[in-house]
Amino acid sequence: MDAEKRFWTKVSQKSNDECWNWNAGTDGTERGAFSFHGKPERAYRVAWILTNGEIPDGMSVCHKCDNPRCCNPNHLFIGTQADNARDMWNKGRGASPRGEQSGRAKLTEENVLEIRRLSAQGLSSRKIAPRMGVSKTQINEVLRGNIWKHVR
Ligand SMILES: [Zn+2]
Repeated sequence: MDAEKRFWTKVSQKSNDECWNWNAGTDGTERGAFSFHGKPERAYRVAWILTNGEIPDGMSVCHKCDNPRCCNPNHLFIGTQADNARDMWNKGRGASPRGEQSGRAKLTEENVLEIRRLSAQGLSSRKIAPRMGVSKTQINEVLRGNIWKHVR
């Protein structure tokens, strides 16, 4: 059985809205542990990678549902470590990443400052864009100061 099939046999897959709990071993905390490409990885991170591809450098996979065992890709989003700690979902800011990507997502002043900060850390606009749910072009516009120039 390949790693992907083996992985999903350990997850209680339910409807899209429900939590899909990891039902195999954990790393000693609440988080599921799974050996992926020969190294131990957290189960929910594997769920993200299998569904969406690589996790951008410097980013974390966060839970909207606040359930560390949950591996439902619909309950996961990409954020910074700080986002994780801040628990954006409970503050009502963690709208579905899918929703933000559809249509013309609007940036907030806070997003703009975050974009500049991530860029200063060496992240490319290609990597920042999915995090903010907007296009790479829009990130470049921000970084060039073509838009949101007034935000300091
Ligand atoms: Zn969940």
